[in-house]
Amino acid sequence: MKHCLWILLGISMMSAADESPIAIALHGGAGTIERGAMSEELEATYRAFLHDAVTSGYEQLREGRSGLDVVVTVIQMMEDSPLFNAGRGAVYTWNGAHELDASIMHGEKLDAGAVAGLSTVQSPIALARTVMEGSPHVMLAGPGAEAFAQEQGFDPVSPEYFGTERRREALEAYKADEQAGRKPEADHKFGTVGVVVLDQAGNLVAGTSTGGMTGKRWGRIGDSPVIGAGTYADNRSCAVSATGHGEYFIRHTVARDICARMQFGAATLEEAARTVVIEELVAAGGEGGIVAVDPAGKVAMVFNTPGMYRASIDATSRKVVGIYGEDETP
Ligand code: ASP
Repeated sequence: MKHCLWILLGISMMSAADESPIAIALHGGAGTIERGAMSEELEATYRAFLHDAVTSGYEQLREGRSGLDVVVTVIQMMEDSPLFNAGRGAVYTWNGAHELDASIMHGEKLDAGAVAGLSTVQSPIALARTVMEGSPHVMLAGPGAEAFAQEQGFDPVSPEYFGTERRREALEAYKADEQAGRKPEADHKFGTVGVVVLDQAGNLVAGTSTGGMTGKRWGRIGDSPVIGAGTYADNRSCAVSATGHGEYFIRHTVARDICARMQFGAATLEEAARTVVIEELVAAGGEGGIVAVDPAGKVAMVFNTPGMYRASIDATSRKVVGIYGEDETP
């Protein structure tokens, strides 16, 4: 009997050790998200959503699905939800339209795809993946990107599909502030979604999808579709998805800088992320945050704003769901 127990214990320890590490982290935007400013009901809705999304992604990884599939399916859950500034629920441009951006990167061979300024594609992250896998290019924008989408069999949706009352009010408030020469009160630039994973094959994948910033003009494109700024993945260092004031994230090449600090400077994931987000971006005035994962399945979720919608499950199966400044485990 005793022997049997030892054998069983041995087998279960062996299979745990044999399993490749997997991990996932996601964000739903960073910004002035403060306790008390949101109803209990809305807070519970966000928490439940973040919990379900991260659990679904983790289960898919456990079943052996590729990191690319997992990043796309989890981002699509968020694009389809009006809670986030991506897909349905995206913010409005100054002219009352929607211009969506997204990108995805695979860390094995540094394959990447990105799209910008879309107004009729339901799932920008799916199109970013198709650009990566089905075109010779990395980044497509505007009408060209939409023509490519149709060639690839994406059915266009009407621009109204993305609209929500909440974002319409945010645009009106933003315009009123700007026209009165006031600093816009409401957060007008946050709510982007992003997912990073380590899959069973040892690949790191990152993806990001956004409506950009409320009231944006002149075809403005943020960091989310810019490889190296809002999204980056390299199996030798890490996978990063960012959210925040895109102009700063582009200038500081945030996602690539975090990975480069690991690759060339021997920083840990947490150190690299904190240096960039808490030191460099704060010094420059760039608000936002990142989620990231490394080849061992360690996770970092770092932000310099009062809150960031986030969730993760690391290689030790530790689950975190958080909104405000401290980590909260369900
Ligand atoms: N980074 C996005 C942009 O600048 C906005 C966000 O993260 O919410 O377009």
